[in-house]
Amino acid sequence: MFENLSRRLRESLDKLRGRGRITEADLKQVMREIRMSLLEADVNFEVAKAFVARVQEKAIGQKVLESLTPAEQVYTIVYNELTDLLGGKAVQPELRHEGNLWFLVGLQGSGKTTTAGKLARYYKSKGRRPLLVAADTQRPAAREQLRILGERVGVPVLEVADNEPPEVTAQRLKDHLKTDYRDLVIVDTAGRLQIDEPLMEALARQKAVLNPTETLLVVDAMTGQEALGVSKTFDERIGVTGLVLTKLDGDARGGAALSARFVTGKPIYFAGTSEKLEGLEPFYPDRLAQRILG
Ligand code: GDP
Repeated sequence: MFENLSRRLRESLDKLRGRGRITEADLKQVMREIRMSLLEADVNFEVAKAFVARVQEKAIGQKVLESLTPAEQVYTIVYNELTDLLGGKAVQPELRHEGNLWFLVGLQGSGKTTTAGKLARYYKSKGRRPLLVAADTQRPAAREQLRILGERVGVPVLEVADNEPPEVTAQRLKDHLKTDYRDLVIVDTAGRLQIDEPLMEALARQKAVLNPTETLLVVDAMTGQEALGVSKTFDERIGVTGLVLTKLDGDARGGAALSARFVTGKPIYFAGTSEKLEGLEPFYPDRLAQRILG
């Protein structure tokens, strides 16, 4: 996903290599190039501007112009800023000893149901006892999809009925947990191709009744900046605690992934890296920054 950006950034930074001192004009030129590269990778305009301003400020603060190894110093500053942009330290969703309930929201096609299956598999492999809840009250096909994923990962799936009120779901969940101990309940909710009021209304109600410990927004990194506007709406209406970025294996330019943390203010917990159920990884900002800068 980041090949083009990666190449462009390396080319710009390489121009400083093998040089003794660099001038302010050299630095400014490289900063301009970095900004262009970020914008061409579809990074949000404000994000690109702020990023370059911070790198420049640090470079001046650290007296890069007087240094004998300016290229290395600028590289380190860019690496640190890129890591910060992606969230700094890796953050994981809160996981209590028991009573965890994670509510997954997102647009249809974002990879929500697949991610529910991936999370169940991932945490089962860590010794947890997940339960999946297929809580799309509108689309039986979505519930069917989760039932199949549940079978594949060996995790039970509780299915809601068409138009089931959230109070009924909550009661059925409670009853289920009485006979089948589970410490992590992952709820896959309804998605739509676009945000609409009835969907938000229904999700807000479902959330209020189920009272999740985490609300994860699943964001398709292939859909670009538009995905981030959608994310803000989800957060305003539903309240989101963290993000899962899917399809990082895709060939989009990467700007949405790079801007997601900054634009939404939410940590990125996981990255989806393939269609397969194994394709889920905890998100490490420093590793991705390293990969991008090569
Ligand atoms: P939902 O409508 O949000 O529940 O989305 P689905 O879980 O049905 O996923 C939509 C499509 O995206 C499916 O074809 C998935 O296989 C695919 N998908 C989901 N996550 C990833 C990912 O991380 N990488 C890739 N390449 N495809 C993914």
